[in-house]
Amino acid sequence: MDAQRTLRRHISCVGIGLHSGNKVTLSLKPAPVDFGIRFRRTDLGDHDVPATVQHLAGIQLATGLARNEVAVETVEHLLAALVSSNVDNVLVELSSPEVPIMDGSAAPFVYLIQEAGVKRLPAPRKYVKIVRPIAISRGDKRIALYPSDHFKVTYSISYDHPLLRHQSRTLRITEESFVEEVAPARTFTFLKDVEMLRQNGLALGGSLENAIVLGETGVLNTLRFPDEFVRHKILDAIGDLALVGYPVVGHLVAHRAGHALHTEFAAKIMAEAHAWRLVEAPFDHVPVGLPVKDAAPRLAH
Ligand SMILES: [Zn+2]
Repeated sequence: MDAQRTLRRHISCVGIGLHSGNKVTLSLKPAPVDFGIRFRRTDLGDHDVPATVQHLAGIQLATGLARNEVAVETVEHLLAALVSSNVDNVLVELSSPEVPIMDGSAAPFVYLIQEAGVKRLPAPRKYVKIVRPIAISRGDKRIALYPSDHFKVTYSISYDHPLLRHQSRTLRITEESFVEEVAPARTFTFLKDVEMLRQNGLALGGSLENAIVLGETGVLNTLRFPDEFVRHKILDAIGDLALVGYPVVGHLVAHRAGHALHTEFAAKIMAEAHAWRLVEAPFDHVPVGLPVKDAAPRLAH
């Protein structure tokens, strides 16, 4: 009964790139069965960059993708919103390299997707179901996936900062829990790092409007959750795991990881094909083109 989905209609927004500070137009467009999530730069012609580990590039402070000289950056919050909204197929158009940072969270992207609406397509969704553990550790940074009947994330962080000695959370990720518990959590940075980033031409679009900034003893903004930091790490991990190309069914457990380890791990999952199975969701042929909410009662019996 679980069909692939796309958007009901095209939708756009304008924002700025966190690192470049440049204005960028983002458009999300409906796409057919098995298209996946692909990025296109409208300033560079018709070349698509699929959102998969094969096209990973430039992982430092954010996650980037590239193919044939076409690069896109800071894709992770948008990817987290798309996969958690069960959007399998979509063309993402950008007028410049960076996905807009919006308010530093995934909530504005969830809003865009909800405004466009989501519809079923006439093909079953496929999942990567984890059947054996997969793990990477680098010093005290660790990330692993274990078999589970649901997609769950356990994340823990610890920093040398009085507010962030330890935060940990486990969440079963559903469309609802993502919207309520994860999507609003904003990215964060340390005030002591901001000057260094700017000297290197980074974070030029950063401000208290799109990032939580930690001073020496406290936070310069108002938090949306007491543990907004670890919730944002869960958001980042969901977005980076989307590069597997299919929804993952398993329990992701990460400690002190970041984009580099998340994306290295996504590539390791693809390489360890004995540890997962590609499964097709049970699928009923329902009338296509109905908005998902309208179609739901027909699926109930
Ligand atoms: Zn992030």
